[in-house]
Amino acid sequence: MEEKLKQLKAILGEVSDINNAIALLDWDQQVNMPPGGVEARGYQIATLSNLAHVKFTSDEVGKLLDEFQPLAEQLDPDSDDARLLRVTKREYDKQTRVPSELVIEFAQVTSVAHNAWQEAREKNDFASFAPYLEKIFALRRRYADLFAPYDHVYDPLLDDFEPGLKTADVLAIFSELRTQQVELLKEIASRPQVDDSFLRQPYDEQKQWDFGVEVISKMGYDWKRGRQDHSAHPFTTNFDIDDVRITTRILPDYAASAFFSTVHEAGHAMYEQGISKALRRTPLAGGASLAVHESQSRMWENLIGRSLPFWEHFYPRLRELFPAQLGNVDLQTFYKGINKVEPSLIRTEADEATYNLHVMVRLELEIAVLENRLQVKDLPEAWNEKMRDYLGITPPNDSEGVLQDVHWSGGSIGYFPTYALGNLISVQLWECILQDIPDVNAQIRRGEFGELLNWLREKIHRHGAKFEPQELVQRVTGTKIDPAPYLRYLRTKYGEIYNL
Ligand code: MG
Repeated sequence: MEEKLKQLKAILGEVSDINNAIALLDWDQQVNMPPGGVEARGYQIATLSNLAHVKFTSDEVGKLLDEFQPLAEQLDPDSDDARLLRVTKREYDKQTRVPSELVIEFAQVTSVAHNAWQEAREKNDFASFAPYLEKIFALRRRYADLFAPYDHVYDPLLDDFEPGLKTADVLAIFSELRTQQVELLKEIASRPQVDDSFLRQPYDEQKQWDFGVEVISKMGYDWKRGRQDHSAHPFTTNFDIDDVRITTRILPDYAASAFFSTVHEAGHAMYEQGISKALRRTPLAGGASLAVHESQSRMWENLIGRSLPFWEHFYPRLRELFPAQLGNVDLQTFYKGINKVEPSLIRTEADEATYNLHVMVRLELEIAVLENRLQVKDLPEAWNEKMRDYLGITPPNDSEGVLQDVHWSGGSIGYFPTYALGNLISVQLWECILQDIPDVNAQIRRGEFGELLNWLREKIHRHGAKFEPQELVQRVTGTKIDPAPYLRYLRTKYGEIYNL
């Protein structure tokens, strides 16, 4: 068995090398590449993707996995090897079930759809994008049907991002969130608004960059195994546990954007940097799911980065860097300003109290289309209606409404709920941290993050993708993904800020 496991790991190692090379090409495309390189880069990535797919779905891998089936049961079920076999088998069964014609058609449709979406958004012309979106939904339905029987047509799509999670679970979680978040938002709207105008003025770009670097260094981002660059949209990528990179985008007239995105991406990156090196070059060398990943970035960005103890430590330094902008702004005013709640049209700019509502709009529409209760052509109207119901605002046009996100054009249906679930998980974990490290806020006030980061490493990071998200959350917190802690958190935090 030892010998065969070595054989399997050798193949998985090569697949992982190819995938990491693809990630590097993608990083380069977003950070360095001149526009002229785009076509050739597309071919390079497609060729490597196909190589990785062929290697991973080979008969040899299938045969090895079959042979392991009986032997795997003798292993400790929580051991790295047992989990590796389980995750690899799961992924193998998935990938081999999808015919290559469907993979190719999906790649072709989404690559054209991406341009169509960009143009439609620029021209505020949903009708020109609708035929592509219809095709994408049809292809996703065909994909889901490969995994029939399922409880819900959305299950196989969701499963690609959140292994093991069911649509019924997500809908139950969201229905509890919806009523309470809509209610909270109404209460906040009835109170006097806080001031954040001091954030919206010119801030020196280099100083913004330097301050972000200073803060994430203290948080524990390891620069010997990372770097930061500029890109149009901030992201985190990695080519190994020891090479995890982030990017940021600096807005000269709005200081909060680059800072919080830097902290957010560093949260993702510290997760990847904390994965056990024993999992290197295997399918386990990554986060447990997108939601668990987002729980890490959101925790650093919001629970820590938008907290009062955090700014008790960092605000004097920020003020020193920007005396003209912040000299007359006291800590309390600053804290309230960075936590301002305001229903807005664009998801990526939404605050903590409204963010999940944006996600709900998308989730409910995706499901309605997949269930054939809603036609693609009617999406703009349905979108606007939900925005009115949940956020109390109506988009003035589709560019700022149904066309705002790139996800659907790339075929990522089932992706959005992961953002909201990440918020929920972050607070569930935070409640455990408060129990295990009772003086964590005092530590943060002193700018000390070591014990906190060690806790995250021990409970979450080092396991990589060994556990499915629900299992991991249950192991650490004692319950599955649960909206109650997040709702409590919002009530307490905004109760204080808005005197509810
Ligand atoms: Mg993120």
